Amino acid sequence: MGDCIFCRIASGEMKTPLLLENDSVAAFSDINPQAPVHVLVVPKEHVETTNELSGKPELVQKLFLACLQVAEQTGLAEDGYRIVANCGAKAGQSVYHVHFHLLGGRPMSWPPG
Ligand code: 5GP
Ligand code: ZN
Repeated sequence: MGDCIFCRIASGEMKTPLLLENDSVAAFSDINPQAPVHVLVVPKEHVETTNELSGKPELVQKLFLACLQVAEQTGLAEDGYRIVANCGAKAGQSVYHVHFHLLGGRPMSWPPG
């Protein structure tokens, strides 16, 4: 986890602006946004995938509530938004530090590809 990019961002080592930060969670804009608002909500502790969240219900709660808080902050709560967590290779997870994508600001189709 020493070279984990999201650990470095969440700890403040990388100077990425944070939209939200508390004792356990950080949120920041995705570097390659797929919507006008595309925020990543991550735990400060290194957890690889959603599978490893099963033993951490308090962290799940904090992560989800942070998504809702950022949705309020960014104006998405009124407008509508999507929360996505990709788990594992088949889902397209590319960074193995668990994260929720908060997406909004444009109409979205369903199902995803
Ligand atoms: P995944 O495919 O794992 O669900 O999503 C990883 C996301 O992290 C991608 O949307 C990608 O654009 C984003 N990302 C990868 N590296 C960085 C980075 O260094 N900074 C930020 N802000 N986002 C990143
Ligand atoms: Zn990490």
